Formats: sequence, structure tokens, C-alpha cells
Amino acid sequence: MSAGGEHAQVAVIGAGVCGLSCASALAKAGVPVAVFEQARGPGGRMSTRRQTLETGEQLRFDHGAQYFSAKDLAVQALVQEWVAAGVAAPWTPRLGTWEAGKGFVPEEADSKVRYVGVPGMNAICQHLSSQPGVSARLGTAVTGLEWRDGRWLLTGKDGAALGTYAALVVTDKNLASPRFSALNAGLPPPLESAGVPELFARVAAVSSIPSFALMLAFKQPLTQLPFDGLDVRNHKTLVWAGRDSAKPGRLKEPGAPECWVLHSNGDYAKRRVEEGPAGKPSAEWLGEIAEDMLAGFREIVPEMPEPLFARAHRWGGGFPAVAIANPGEACLWDESKRVAACGDYCLGPRVESAILSGLAAANKIFATRELLTLSKAHL
Ligand SMILES: Cc1cc2nc3c(=O)[nH]c(=O)nc-3n(C[C@H](O)[C@H](O)[C@H](O)COP(=O)(O)OP(=O)(O)OC[C@H]3O[C@@H](n4cnc5c(N)ncnc54)[C@H](O)[C@@H]3O)c2cc1C
Repeated sequence: MSAGGEHAQVAVIGAGVCGLSCASALAKAGVPVAVFEQARGPGGRMSTRRQTLETGEQLRFDHGAQYFSAKDLAVQALVQEWVAAGVAAPWTPRLGTWEAGKGFVPEEADSKVRYVGVPGMNAICQHLSSQPGVSARLGTAVTGLEWRDGRWLLTGKDGAALGTYAALVVTDKNLASPRFSALNAGLPPPLESAGVPELFARVAAVSSIPSFALMLAFKQPLTQLPFDGLDVRNHKTLVWAGRDSAKPGRLKEPGAPECWVLHSNGDYAKRRVEEGPAGKPSAEWLGEIAEDMLAGFREIVPEMPEPLFARAHRWGGGFPAVAIANPGEACLWDESKRVAACGDYCLGPRVESAILSGLAAANKIFATRELLTLSKAHL
């Protein structure tokens, strides 16, 4: 038996939408999976941050992905399941652009269907992590990977044994990046010493574009801005402003604060991250980022009232700078050691790409099912 869950045959590292799409597809097909996630909750960059004000009022912010597409048929089928389960819904925002010197331009209505998680973006990952056959080990960082006697041995912080598995799925490029060492007291990135040099080299080559999110709450709705989502162009700090409270399933009681999420542009984030701390950012430093971004928003909405709440979040590995999958490939796969590397760095920085990459990894593992069955006999 493995430590990840009873008889889990596959270990997935990362409970973002990629890892959980992979895990739930495997579990649905009868392959039990243990999913390890270093954070307290599932979601990764598709998370929702909760905040309670001193008044007891609850705020909720989708501080990563804002909405997602479902163009691919396999993704459409999954999204329909999530809609039926009440954890996703289509969103029809009033969209516009703002550009220095040009001001606001409303976007023409289009036929694109945009989806969001309900009541927050993380609801989808929470739903997937509670599927039968998926054992989610939250708050458990994987710090070591070893291939021994035909199985993967996983270790956690302080050398804790996390079980052995017939196959492995790695969903975060940080497992091959110096950023892992910066965040884990100098430990080498786990994929580096896992005996899969080609796969390691391809994932290690992915650099990231950082991003900041500013979560804002206002006592009154920002009626001065007749948009729910604004693409901001040629601005010194911002690239996006979204009215979270306009999404379906959000708190809409009279008098409830209105929640907004702003995203910084890549140039601003890169500069600030380069001059900032490599490890956990201090509240003071994040406060400076919040001030910059708020000042930027005030340029766009000069009559904006003071927010009730403002807090910045750093997405150090915000977006992969490249997509590394070869044509016809949606994940990386080493057949000899039954290890897949998947995530949005394979096909592009979008939720839909991450789902497709996770499903591709699950398919690679289905193809080795016979080996998994044999392996199970030796558990
Ligand atoms: C600011 C921002 C805005 C975005 N907006 C949109 C949008 O509007 N629409 C859209 O489609 N996409 C958007 N994206 C992109 C989208 O969020 C990602 O493409 C998608 O969520 C990636 O999912 P993933 O599972 O591949 O990676 P992640 O969500 O990053 O999941 C990887 C997980 O692995 C975990 N992990 C890492 N190392 C370890 C370890 N050692 N042990 C255990 N766990 C570990 C991490 O904590 C994380 O939870 C946005 C991204 C950002 C940052």
C-alpha cells in the first residue's frame, strides 16, 4: 500500500487543473491516484482567495485565471459535467479595452463561450479532487523523486516517505527549476536527480513570466466603470481589470462589497520580481506593489473611491514563456520509467491547454495499464 491513498498506483504532483484533470480521468477508468499538493487547497493558478473583513463580511477573489474557454470537444464534455455538478457556469461579461490616449472602447459581442468556476474558480479543482479514486494530499510538498526497482519513490519535507507508485505525473515546471531551490532552502529540483535527463532538460528550459494580482473590494459597486472585464493596453502597470462580483454564483446580497481583481503587465512584474525577494515576499513589499497597481487603476478610473480592502499577490511563475510540446504531443512522456510531465507549459498558458495536457498524460498511462496491473500485484 502507498502512503498517498489506499493502493494508489499513480502519483500526480500538483493539484492544479492539469493534475486534477489527469487524476480524475485515471480514477474514472479505475486507476486509483494520489495527488500531492504543496498548498493548503487545490486550484494552483486557478485558485480563489477568501478574506474576512473585520466586520465579518466575506470576500472572495479569483486572483489567478479569470475565465476559460472550452473549444476542444473533450474539454467541452468535461465542462458540461462540471456545469451539471454546479461547479462551473458560462459567464457573459461586458468586456472592453482601455488604452492610454484612447480611453475606453466597448468590445463587440462575440460568440465565444467563457466559463468560470462557481462560486469561485477553485470550485472545479475542489470538485475534481473529491472524485472517488482520487486521494488528495494537500499541504504536502514533494521534494524528492527516486526510481527504484521499477517504481517511483516520493519523499516530502524532512525526508518523509510519501509512498511508492508504478507511474508518476509531474505538473509543475518548478520541479525542474532553480526556483524550487530558492523556495526550498537550497534543495535541488526533484526532477534533476530523477534519472530522466531528457525530460528534465526539456522542462528546465521553460522560463516564466511573473505576474501580480491586486485584490480590491469597494463598499459600493464601481458604477463609474461600465465593464465587467477590461483589457488594459500600453499601461505602465496593468493589463487586466475584472469585476469578480459580476460572475455567476458570487455573493450578491444588497450592501455586499464589490470585489475586483487587477493583473499587472509582464514588464512591470518582471522588473519588480527581479529586484524583490527570491523567497516568500514580505507584506511590506507586497504593499508597495499594491500601491503601484492601485495608482495605475486610478489613472483609468479617476473618480474611483478608496477601496475597503486591497492586497497584492505575487505569481512568481505566472505564465510559461514558451510551449514546449512538439506537434502532435500534448505532454512529455518517458515510457521506460512511466513518467509524464504535463501542464500549461506544454501547449500554452491557458486553463484549456492545461486540461488537455493532463488528459494526454492520463492517456499515456492508460496505455501502460497492463504494467500498472502487474505492479499492483506486487504492492
Ligand atoms: C494571473 C494569471 C491570470 C490568468 N488568467 C487566465 C485566464 O483568464 N484564462 C485562462 O485560460 N488561463 C489563465 N491563466 C493561466 C491558467 O491559470 C493556467 O494556465 C492554469 O491554471 C495552469 O494549470 P496547471 O495545472 O498546469 O498549473 P498550476 O495551476 O500552476 O498547478 C501546479 C500545482 O503544482 C503545485 N506544486 C508545485 N510544486 C509542488 C511540489 N513540489 N509538491 C506538491 N505540489 C507542487 C503548485 O502548488 C500548483 O498548485 C492565468 C494565469 C495567471 C497566473
